[in-house]
Amino acid sequence: MKKLKIEEIKIYETFENKLAECPFCVIEEKYEKQLIHSILGERIMDIDFYPKIGNEHKFCENHIEKLNRGSDKLGLAIMLDKIINEEKKKLHKNKSLQKNHNSVVKKLLSLSKNPSRTLNGKANYECFICSKLDENNNDNIKVTIELWKKDMDFRRLYKDSRGFCSNHYINMINELEESTEMKGLDDMYEVTNEIYLKNLERLQEELQWFIKKFDYLNADKPWGTSKDSIQRALQKILGNY
Ligand SMILES: [Zn+2]
Ligand SMILES: [Zn+2]
Repeated sequence: MKKLKIEEIKIYETFENKLAECPFCVIEEKYEKQLIHSILGERIMDIDFYPKIGNEHKFCENHIEKLNRGSDKLGLAIMLDKIINEEKKKLHKNKSLQKNHNSVVKKLLSLSKNPSRTLNGKANYECFICSKLDENNNDNIKVTIELWKKDMDFRRLYKDSRGFCSNHYINMINELEESTEMKGLDDMYEVTNEIYLKNLERLQEELQWFIKKFDYLNADKPWGTSKDSIQRALQKILGNY
């Protein structure tokens, strides 16, 4: 049996799922769900967390939407009530805001005007959830590089993976470029580029077969793996959207 740390096992097992369009997105999605659950559950009642909502702890539009997709409406209502309270306090404090025709609602969603996390590949650091996900992602990338360095079986898994979504691909390449040991990681850099390109091409073929299936001549031919290619292409381009 291999001796691996808990965080290494998590990465290892995710790469073992060979059908994932991006292993980091799989981890991120799981972590994001846990975060949302804990924010609307126990954190909203936490005496350290609650007072910071609307101040230090802000939320981007993407994450307000995701918070709303869940079933915990009580937690969300308490959170929105607190955010509106903070906005009202700011309005009272700064009368000039009113002169600028900045409505409470507009201010409430002011973070939404920042480019979203998924579009520019960078976390919206003002958003509590975005910054947590980004922190976690940086750790995962470092653990992945460590595994590549010491574990030959993991290297094979990495090479056979479907690569990453465009955001996580950029994160990985940046980390490899910034790494002080870049020399020893030349091969990982090369493989990362190879699997990214190879899997973009594979996805494109699946999409092209999806398109061809609309031709009546192909109507009876099998879908192959193309049926859900749109969803997987979106995952590849946007990450967890
Ligand atoms: Zn990803
Ligand atoms: Zn966010």
